[in-house]
Amino acid sequence: KIIKDHFMRGIILRPAQGVNLEEARQIAAQYGWNIELKEEKISDPIEALKEKFDELYKDESKLVQRPPVVTVMGHVDHGKTTLLDRIRKTTVAEKEVGGITQSIGAYQAEIDGKKITFIDTPGHEAFTEMRARGAQATDIVVLVVAADDGVMPQTIEAFNHAKTANVPIIVAINKIDKPNANIDLTKQQLASKLGLVPEDWGGDTIVVPISAKMGKGIDELLEMILLVAEMSEIKCIPQGNARGVIIESELDKGVGPLATAIIKDGIIKPGDYIVAGSTHGKVRALRDEKGRKVKNAGPSDPVQIIGFEEVPDMHEILYVVDSLDQAREISAFVKERQKKERMVKGKKHVRLEEFMRI
Ligand code: GDP
Ligand code: MG
Repeated sequence: KIIKDHFMRGIILRPAQGVNLEEARQIAAQYGWNIELKEEKISDPIEALKEKFDELYKDESKLVQRPPVVTVMGHVDHGKTTLLDRIRKTTVAEKEVGGITQSIGAYQAEIDGKKITFIDTPGHEAFTEMRARGAQATDIVVLVVAADDGVMPQTIEAFNHAKTANVPIIVAINKIDKPNANIDLTKQQLASKLGLVPEDWGGDTIVVPISAKMGKGIDELLEMILLVAEMSEIKCIPQGNARGVIIESELDKGVGPLATAIIKDGIIKPGDYIVAGSTHGKVRALRDEKGRKVKNAGPSDPVQIIGFEEVPDMHEILYVVDSLDQAREISAFVKERQKKERMVKGKKHVRLEEFMRI
C-alpha cells in the first residue's frame, strides 16, 4: 500500500532499496505512526556515498551552475532524431581530424559560449529507472509534437514520465513546414489532453514552433532551453570525486567494457577508481563524443569511460572513490545484494508495470 500510495504521487519506492530513517519517519507520519530508532547500522555503502553528496549539497555557497542536460522525447516519427541531428549540425563544431565521427548517446552543443548537453535516446523507462536510483540524468525535457499529427499516445507517455520526474518541459511543435500542419489544433490538444497551456494562451508552458527539417525555430528553441536552465538553478559540486549516470554501456571488442556517462558532480580523470553498481575498475582512458581522448570530464559532460572490469548496467550511478579496495568492496556488496534480490523476486528489476499492478 505504501508503495502504491507513493507511486500515485510520483515517488517510486523499491522494496529492496529500503528507506533511510528520515524517509521512514516521513512515511510513517502519513499513516499516523511514529518511528523509533533502536539500533543504527550503516549497511549500504552506496547510500553512504549518496549521503556524502547530500551533505555537500547543503552548503549552497559551494554549488555552481552547470549546463543543462536535455532529453528529447515524443511520439515515434514526430521528429526527435531529425531535431537532434539538426542541433548537432548547427552547434557542434566539427574539429576532428581524419573525419571519423564516433557517435555516442550524447553530445554537447554550444550557443554563444553556453553549453547544452543533449542525450539521444534514453527511452521512457530510463527516466523512471534512473530516478529510482536517486540520480536524474535529465534536467529539461523537450517534448516534440508533430503539427500534422498532434498529441499521440507516446506524447502522453513521455509527458507523464517527465512529470513524474518533476522535470521542466518545453514543447517543440515540429513539422510546421508541412501544408497540413495545424499549430493551433496542436496547442489545443496540449492544453486539453496534457494540461500544458501555452504561454501565448495565458498558460505557463513554453511552446516553440519549429521545423527540424528546414532548420526553422531551432535558435528560439535553444534560447528557451537556456532560459529554462537559468531559471531552474541546475547546480553541481564542481570539484572533487565525480558522480555521474551511466547512459550507455557495451562490451567493445577492442577496449573491453565501455560506458558512456553524464558527469553530474566533480571531475573524473584517468587513474580514478570507479564503481557503478556491481562493477568497479580504474579509469584507463576517457573519450569525448567524437572519440577523442580527454584528460578529464566535469559536470554535464558526456564522457566515454574505459576501465570497468565488467560492463556496468545502464542507468546505474557512477561514483569515483578513493581507492581500488573501496571500489571493489562496494561493487561486491552490490553484487551480493542483487543476488539476494534475484532470489527473492526471481528477476533483476521491478518494472514500472509491476508497480501498476500492485
Ligand atoms: P523520430 O521517430 O521522432 O525520431 O522521428 P524522425 O526524426 O525519424 O522523423 C520522422 C520523419 O519525419 C522523417 O521522415 C523526417 O524526415 C520527418 N521530419 C522530421 N522533422 C520534420 C520537419 O520538421 N518537417 C517535415 N516535413 N518532416 C520532418
Ligand atoms: Mg528517432
